This record gives sequence, C-alpha cells and structure tokens, in this order.
Amino acid sequence: MSYADRILKIDLNGDTKETELDKKIAKQFVGGSGLAAYYLYKMGVYDFEPLTTNIIAMFNGPLTGTAPSTSRLSFCAKSPLTGIWGESNVGGKMAAFLKFAGWDGVIIQGQSDKPIYIHVDENGAEIKSAEGIWGMGCYDAQKAIEKEVSEKRVSTAVIGQAGENLVRYACIQVDNSRHAGRTGMGAVLGAKKIKGIAVSYDARYEVELADEKKFEEEVKALNERTKNNFTCNMFKELGTSGYVESAEMFGDLPVKYFIQGTFEKASEISGSKMTQTFLKGNDGCFGCSIRCGRVVEIDGKTIHGPEYETVASFGSLQLIDDLKSLIEINYLLNDYGIDSISTGVAIAYTMWLNDRAFTILALNGEMLGGLKN
Ligand code: SF4
Repeated sequence: MSYADRILKIDLNGDTKETELDKKIAKQFVGGSGLAAYYLYKMGVYDFEPLTTNIIAMFNGPLTGTAPSTSRLSFCAKSPLTGIWGESNVGGKMAAFLKFAGWDGVIIQGQSDKPIYIHVDENGAEIKSAEGIWGMGCYDAQKAIEKEVSEKRVSTAVIGQAGENLVRYACIQVDNSRHAGRTGMGAVLGAKKIKGIAVSYDARYEVELADEKKFEEEVKALNERTKNNFTCNMFKELGTSGYVESAEMFGDLPVKYFIQGTFEKASEISGSKMTQTFLKGNDGCFGCSIRCGRVVEIDGKTIHGPEYETVASFGSLQLIDDLKSLIEINYLLNDYGIDSISTGVAIAYTMWLNDRAFTILALNGEMLGGLKN
C-alpha cells in the first residue's frame, strides 16, 4: 500500500504535531474513512459534542496519487445532523495534493475564537486569520484564500454562510466544484471557526510502489476498461445526471416527495438535455479521465452544473422541470455551502406536508359543509 506514513494533528488550542502512521492499523482499516474511523474512535469520538468538542479528520486513501480517479478525500467527525458517525467523501485535487505534500491525513481538534483558515504543506500547518473572508460565499472565499496562499499548486476547501451559521447540513466546497455534502461536516468546521483549508506542496512526495512495472500494467488495463465502459462513457458525455432518464425508466427517480412513481418531464432535466443546451465543457477530479463534472453557461456566465443528486432532489422530487432554474439553484446552494440533497428533500417534505394540510382542511371543510347541510 502506498501511504505517506505521516499524519498531521492540529490542536487549535495547543500544538501541531506529526505522528507516524501505524502500518498495522492501515492494513486493518483500509481507506480514508477507515483510518479516520480508527483514529477518531481512539480519540473518543462518541463522547464529543458535534458543535463544540468535536474533532474532524480528513484522510486520503492508499491509492491516492497513483492510479486514476483516486483523488478522493474523506471528511469524518461526529455528525451534527445525526449525532452519530458522520463522513463525507469528496473529489477535486485536495486528496492528491495532501499525499503529494507527504500526508495521509489531517486531524483537527479544539476551537478557535476568531475566524481562521489553515494552510497545510509538506512542513506542517500554519494558522492564518480569516477575519476578512468570514461572511463570504464559497466561491469568493476560495478565490481569496488561493490569492493569499499564492502557491503554484494549491487546493482549497471552504465553508459558506451555511457552515458559519452552523446549519446542520452545511457542506464543504473543494476546488470550486466538488462538495463534501453529507452529514454536516461544514457545520463542524464552522463551529471551530475554520473558514477554509488550503493544501499546497512544493517538492512532490513520491509514493513508493512495491512493483512499479506490475502497477503500470494494471493502470494501463484499467484505463482501457474505462475507455470502453458504458457507464464511464455516459458520465463523461452526460454527467451524473445522465442517469435521470434511466432512473425514471427503472422507477428509481424520486418524484413528488417519493409518493409518485413517474415524472413525465424527466427528459427536460436530464443530462442529455444539459448537453444539448447549456453545456460548455466537462471537468474532473485530479487524474481522472472520466471527467464527469459539468461546466455550463447561463446568461453569459460560466459556472459548474448540477449533479444527479441536485437535479433529482430539486427537480423531480419537487416537480420542477426547468433546467435553467435547477442550474441557478445549484449555484446558490454551492455558494452558501449547503448540501443540495438534504435541502431539496427538506423542501419537498415541507411541500408534501403543506399538501396534506390543505387536503385535511378541505376534507374538514367538506365534512363541516356536510354537517351544515
Ligand atoms: S471526475 Fe467524476 S468520475 Fe472522476 S473521480 Fe471525480 S467524481 Fe469520480
């Protein structure tokens, strides 16, 4: 396995320390979430209060920085949304850059009383003031941190106003387009007054491979399979919302707060529709040839387009069939740093309750009318 063998532990009310990765543990708890679960459990994660004493970990995986499509990072902590284990996995460049800076993971504990951001590089971490950035949306915050760090190779993760205000399903935006959306990890950063994390590296840490030749052969074969794989090609051409029409066909598309089986306007919000109308290009996580991310243009502005989850939770789940509106909604959600799945489902649920309230009122009215007659 190709670990960097170093973990960075940052105590916002104490010191920053480097710890050696326990290789035996790395074999037992494979992957970013596995390792984070082990270390957080050892540190007593179940006794933490999600928005005060919590500890947050971000770990890459054993293959990060080697094989294609492996720049995935897990943010883990006790969830402020559920009160139990929380983890959210995100793409972008950060996982790879963290490995290239020579770290398998970063664990952050303590709370700052002033807004800060953390800059991690091969030498450790530096805590910087984020007073001028606090209050900004994700896109501006990301730009501001990148400008301040001013390193050639930098990846940033930030929270928006949702995380600052401890919305329990606030997310973390990575590299302007990817989101650690689930379980409220943005609120955990917000509670620590961490506006963002920047990871940069200068001299790249080279991962040691047990058998370089064999590894290269496997990567070549994997690339061939990816090139000829139907699902990979669909994601490349249509993005993840390329699944909308298939989901509708299989009865898997969530419609009208899960109470309706079909959505006749599915093709209006699908990945094919986006490709035919607003798509300008695609983008992807570090080292991925699939590049499922959407770059779209609306009203002369080039922005990132929605994924399947946003299209489903705000589109079919709420019976919205206007793709342009979905793109705009997605942009705002991302800028505020709020999870589009939880937000969409909460709104759809409210609409369902509202419908039921009207039905009950109408029924009551009918009954009362009946009684009067
Ligand atoms: S670009 Fe898409 S397919 Fe590639 S790693 Fe990122 S999320 Fe996965």
